[in-house]
Amino acid sequence: MSRHRVPTPHDAAERAAQTTLERALTVAFWQVMGRQPMPAMAALEAAARTVGALYRQVAAAHGPTGHCACGWEPDPEADLVVLEAMLAAGLAHPPAGDLAAMVPAGRA
Ligand SMILES: [Zn+2]
Repeated sequence: MSRHRVPTPHDAAERAAQTTLERALTVAFWQVMGRQPMPAMAALEAAARTVGALYRQVAAAHGPTGHCACGWEPDPEADLVVLEAMLAAGLAHPPAGDLAAMVPAGRA
């Protein structure tokens, strides 16, 4: 509901789940790049388009005919601002754990 959340004990669990998802997506990205090299921007465009498609799918699950009852209400305009900020944050500050460290593993 509110976009301005107060930190809660759930935040640590949520962050851990996010880290798991980020690692899975990163591994999948580099596996495909290893098998099927392509221009850098073509790959990144596909990844960004996929995030958009995932948003559409998740939002559909929360619409009038959706099956999720968690209470989240998609707000595409505001949510896109958040996603753009996360994209910029990913460029500026690699998460600890470090995605850059996975690149050599992806190429090995
Ligand atoms: Zn939900």
